[in-house]
Amino acid sequence: MFAHTCTSCRQRKLVFPSQITSMTNTDDGIVVAFTCWCDAEQVLVTGKRAGARREAAAAHAA
Ligand SMILES: [Zn+2]
Repeated sequence: MFAHTCTSCRQRKLVFPSQITSMTNTDDGIVVAFTCWCDAEQVLVTGKRAGARREAAAAHAA
């Protein structure tokens, strides 16, 4: 579970594992595709390079 600001509804929401449609490992990290609460398809890059800073920011914001 993580927080994400949707590019469609522009709201910061918690994304649950049940909303995730795919996870792909790339050189830039793990590309997570999921469906927002507003039904917009969203993509988030996480993992080794992108993950730590993003997750720390999310924890701080929460
Ligand atoms: Zn949305």
